[in-house]
Amino acid sequence: MIIGIPKEIKTLENRVSMTPGAVGSLIRQGNEVLVESGAGLGSGLTDEEYQAAGAKMVSAAEAWGAEMVIKVKEPLPSEFQYLRKDLILFTYLHLAAAEDLTNALLESGTIGIAYETVESPDRTLPLLTPMSEVAGRMATQVGAHYLEKTQGGRGILLGGVPGVSPAEVLVLGGGVVGTNAARIAMGMGARVTILDLSHGRLQYLDDVFNGRITTMMSTEANIREMVQRADLVIGGVLLPGAKAPKLITRDMLGIMKEGSVIVDVAVDQGGCVETIKPTTHDNPTYIVDGVVHYGVANMPGAVPRTSTFALVNQTTPYAMRLAAKGVAALKDDPGLALGLNTYKGKLTCPAVGEAFGIDS
Ligand code: NAD
Repeated sequence: MIIGIPKEIKTLENRVSMTPGAVGSLIRQGNEVLVESGAGLGSGLTDEEYQAAGAKMVSAAEAWGAEMVIKVKEPLPSEFQYLRKDLILFTYLHLAAAEDLTNALLESGTIGIAYETVESPDRTLPLLTPMSEVAGRMATQVGAHYLEKTQGGRGILLGGVPGVSPAEVLVLGGGVVGTNAARIAMGMGARVTILDLSHGRLQYLDDVFNGRITTMMSTEANIREMVQRADLVIGGVLLPGAKAPKLITRDMLGIMKEGSVIVDVAVDQGGCVETIKPTTHDNPTYIVDGVVHYGVANMPGAVPRTSTFALVNQTTPYAMRLAAKGVAALKDDPGLALGLNTYKGKLTCPAVGEAFGIDS
């Protein structure tokens, strides 16, 4: 198969979808790999390293002309021109929050396989996990930064100091993002509370953190109680493929502390905070009712080298199966088949269909 690796063009996105090592594996499998010149530079990977692995360096249009295009982020409007019938596009799509892109994929007939809805046999999300690990760990780091006075925050140190209380960190959703955010917050000395809907998940968290964090059921009453106390709120809820539920409503901002910070990692699925909107790394925050909002939808893009390697470790085995068999690979693996979001003009992901009221 001919495989294309375009350069990412989203603002300050420096990840790349394949490392030279992964390109070498695809070439040894018998594929031809076309890498856009400079695609890896943001992650410290040179054209020479790709060429040494056997790749051909090409233009964006040539990379997009391949039979299968592997990317990191969803295509932006300037890339819609490359979408076409029979193209296999393997990337993050997050369609429930992107109606224009959904329409562009459907109108062009592109076979869109979304990383974020591929499942493992144990029902976890193997291609979302590595970026959620990065974003979760970063969320606490970023939150600590915006709590500084000069950044618009309350002017408090997450861990406090002897004689002064540490900050209160509220984590909504105790999945991969939430667990990693909590781990770093706890490590920095904050007091951490995690809310989740799943009792099993709360049991697991209580167990792994050995009772050193507080777990609570995610009810409206508990959210209201905890947002009043929180200095930093981290949003990490997910209903796979669907829009995130709005757990923090506009009126709740009124009971939050002046200068508290919300880092809504779930912004890529629409966000779990009513007042969140997507922001970019060059202008990441804005303030509503005295509360700092951080809504960067591609947080791992800030640490591209770590993120590229973490992502490629997980995507390469799937990419190799798609390269070997094309869409037939979906028949062999029901978990990979769940990644199929659009197929030749049809929406094949029920959660995306529900978000837009389209039959799937
Ligand atoms: P996950 O499936 O591991 O965890 C989600 C958790 O949310 C689950 O434990 C689930 O039980 C819980 N949940 C669902 N509804 C809830 C509710 N009403 N209240 C409380 N908890 C609820 O998912 P994840 O990998 O942690 O990802 C979380 C979100 O972060 C996703 O939207 C993902 O796309 C996003 N994400 C964003 C970035 C970014 O750069 N902004 C990066 C990575 C992941």
